[in-house]
Amino acid sequence: MTAPAPKISFVSLGCPKALVDSERIITKLRAEGYELTKTHAGADLVIVNTCGFLDSAKAESLDAIGKGMAENGKVIVTGCMGAEPEQIREAYPGIAAITGPQAYESVMNAVHDVAPPLHNPFLDLVPEQGVKLTPRHYAYLKISEGCNNRCTFCIIPKLRGDLVSRPLAEVMREAEKLVKAGVKELLVISQDTSAYGVDLKYAPSPWGDVDYRTRFLDLAKALSTLGVWVRMHYVYPYPHVDEVIPLMGEVAASGGMVLPYLDIPFQHAAPNVLKAMRRPAHQEKTFQRIEKWREICPDLAIRSTFIVGFPGETEEDFEELLSFLTAAKLERVGAFKYEPVRGATANDLGFEAISPEVQQKRYDRFMRHQQPISAKLLQRRVGQRIKVIIDEAGPTVSKGRSIWDAPEIDGSVYVASRRPLRAGDIVSVKIERADAYDLHGVAV
Ligand code: SF4
Repeated sequence: MTAPAPKISFVSLGCPKALVDSERIITKLRAEGYELTKTHAGADLVIVNTCGFLDSAKAESLDAIGKGMAENGKVIVTGCMGAEPEQIREAYPGIAAITGPQAYESVMNAVHDVAPPLHNPFLDLVPEQGVKLTPRHYAYLKISEGCNNRCTFCIIPKLRGDLVSRPLAEVMREAEKLVKAGVKELLVISQDTSAYGVDLKYAPSPWGDVDYRTRFLDLAKALSTLGVWVRMHYVYPYPHVDEVIPLMGEVAASGGMVLPYLDIPFQHAAPNVLKAMRRPAHQEKTFQRIEKWREICPDLAIRSTFIVGFPGETEEDFEELLSFLTAAKLERVGAFKYEPVRGATANDLGFEAISPEVQQKRYDRFMRHQQPISAKLLQRRVGQRIKVIIDEAGPTVSKGRSIWDAPEIDGSVYVASRRPLRAGDIVSVKIERADAYDLHGVAV
């Protein structure tokens, strides 16, 4: 009789990049015959992939570790917070092992110590594309690790090191497998997507019969041949991004498309603050650049995130940020109140911290300011026929997204349909109304 496979309860916290790490670890676990279980109780081991970016994320990670310890007692911690093991050990001295981000081998070694694998691994349990935590019809495609920038509020380069790009052909092989497995939308992620390939000096990386190089434009071109939607995240407004804009929104010969969507974390608009943040491309003429992109691709949607209440941010700086929002008319916007993350250079710049009350007020003003801008932009869609990818099928109304909405962070399109729809279907929808964040329409 075969012994039962060891069971692992896996908790994945943090950003899409951490999710990709989780997928890789889970793929290895499944490859070695481990089973996954949804409850800590009864599992042979709990693994928590943590996020340590903000203090609030650290608190969430510590809570998750605490829960694993209380309900199971055998816990391995990995991910960003694993780069600072003292804090975890202090709170939970009995932790089985702690490893840092992308330390896949160390995680697996720790797993082998605590819950040894079965002798005969069920390799065939692993689908060819690996195990994915996202729904089957979209997948995150991580093109590089680390970051060469040194934004003063961010500790990611300390945690993850400098930029290391994956050669284009390697990324394409993964993308192709995902598409073969049914993925309809690829979400390209990294810390700085526009810097892709800099570390490899844009080395040649042929794929198929094309002599591509490892660089942003070539990657966009190569991905558009796969016949699926391709969405670009974490792009900075560098001049060379201009070259990719003409590809956007054009349906390629394969039927695929580089979506007219750019996720650009601007973080602020006032030169003083951007300088103190040491943002990449802060010297670029961002506003003119956006205008130019919209001339080339009028349908382009830009999503961005901003930090309010950065140390030293004056009322004038903040108002400059609001004026930027008015002028730039960004489709989707998110904001965070600045948090002094331990180890971040921004804490030692000597600028005065902004009180939590002022931060909250600025945050509320920011959101109030942007809401009518987003709402007005969404109204443009009323009466249009647009393509929608279905995320959750419902009996009469299904929930999906347009080409201008990324999963998790942007709005939704609610689609009424007489014929049954399935997750992953891409349907034409006539938009009938819009509210502040979402669209509503009928499948045609
Ligand atoms: S670009 Fe800046 S914020 Fe983004 S990971 Fe690099 S250092 Fe951090």
